[in-house]
Amino acid sequence: MTITEENYLKTIYKLAEVEPGQGVSTNRIAAALVTRAASVTDMLRRLAEKGLLEYEKYRGVRLTPEGRRLALLTVRKHRLWEVFLVQQLGFSWDEVHEVAEELEHVQSPLLMQRLDAFLNFPTLDPHGDPIPAEDGAMRRPCIACSPT
Ligand SMILES: [Zn+2]
Repeated sequence: MTITEENYLKTIYKLAEVEPGQGVSTNRIAAALVTRAASVTDMLRRLAEKGLLEYEKYRGVRLTPEGRRLALLTVRKHRLWEVFLVQQLGFSWDEVHEVAEELEHVQSPLLMQRLDAFLNFPTLDPHGDPIPAEDGAMRRPCIACSPT
């Protein structure tokens, strides 16, 4: 996976979260990534060929289970790094996002396992967003468990 591919999957995942059950349109992806719709279309074809998403011209894009797993892995890395930057390096919570955008692309499962353990398996990032587990499941602290 290239950095660009990881950013596409993450962006599509986030856009789909805003409107669950709907395909994500090429235009929304282009707007979110600040790029032209034509380049988005090329990349969507490539990701579809890799089996990471389903792309239908008029129905938009949906991640496959594998695409979703990889998107959540990038989200996980991003949020763990944010916790590290705030807790260990003294960043303030509003300073960490841009740095984490770069750190999330480091390819080392062992590093992420050790970072997770070092931080004592946090469930939330400094912005209060849940940190997905390695298998893509969202960890939710019991304090936030809803009765439904
Ligand atoms: Zn962030």
